[in-house]
Amino acid sequence: MISVNGNTRVFAVLGDPIEQSLSPVMYNAAFSALGMDCVYIALKVKKSQLAEAVQGLKDKGIQGGNVTMPLKREIIPYLDELTKEAHLIGAVNTLYWHEGRLWGDNTDGTGFLKALLITKPDLLKLNGALLLGAGGAARAIGVILALAGMKNFTIVNRTREKAKELASLLESLGAIASVREWQSEGIKDAFYENRLLINTTPLGMHSQEKEGLPIVEKWFNKEQFVVDLIYKPRETLFLQKAKLRGCQTLNGLSMLLYQGMIAFEKWSGQKAPQEAMANALERWV
Ligand code: NAP
Repeated sequence: MISVNGNTRVFAVLGDPIEQSLSPVMYNAAFSALGMDCVYIALKVKKSQLAEAVQGLKDKGIQGGNVTMPLKREIIPYLDELTKEAHLIGAVNTLYWHEGRLWGDNTDGTGFLKALLITKPDLLKLNGALLLGAGGAARAIGVILALAGMKNFTIVNRTREKAKELASLLESLGAIASVREWQSEGIKDAFYENRLLINTTPLGMHSQEKEGLPIVEKWFNKEQFVVDLIYKPRETLFLQKAKLRGCQTLNGLSMLLYQGMIAFEKWSGQKAPQEAMANALERWV
């Protein structure tokens, strides 16, 4: 049990909405497991309140924490420094202090890579990756995979312009990236060309039958490794179809855990207690 007192160090996540965030659950379980006199809270911050909120973090001695939707990009001008990864991705999910300056980092891509390498150690030998979506999570994953040496990417996104932007970014990192149309033919071709398929869109999170991805079960083949960033439901229709065709699959829960562990180590300076954090997530998801 955490007992808050006058010396307790405070960490926070900023976002809006914030009620659904699993960060307080995961990080307070970590503090408790390590016996740290720290507490982690969720702060509802609208875009229009962001400048004031970051100043508040600085003035009131908040020790670090996280940033979530819709502030991951917007917070950048208010920070003192950015890591190389956050700069390339163009979004921040982690805040930490170093030598009196407030830094922004992005651990989504590194968390994703760690989760994947544990499940599939030869991941980087696959010929390429299909990214369904080109939002913040796709950028984080694409950048980290490209920095880790993955050479080929196919990007399919509803808004083609954003897919093209991501393709240019990945090419600037030495990869080859092509863009396909967000309709059946485009996605089907992309399925046949790639062995790592990653859904980074929220499609499949709600009312799966109506809002699922526009894909067909027979496009999968058993050589493919199929990942969905969604963790609630634990098995989306996308993963169900892949499994039926014999593919190895992974949902977003381990990415959530590893991005959280990497963030925890950044802002607390302690080794993250994996079991306590994983158990806390298991209880809440
Ligand atoms: P984001 O920046 O808002 O990007 C959303 C992406 O999904 C965009 O490419 C968007 O396409 C596409 N999209 C949204 N609604 C769509 C629809 N109805 N039809 C087609 N495409 C649609 O969000 P994000 O931060 O990348 O997050 C994306 C997903 O990843 C969310 O489900 C989030 O919960 C999950 N996530 C999971 C983890 C984890 O640890 N497991 C971490 C980060 C994110 P347009 O460009 O056309 O709008």
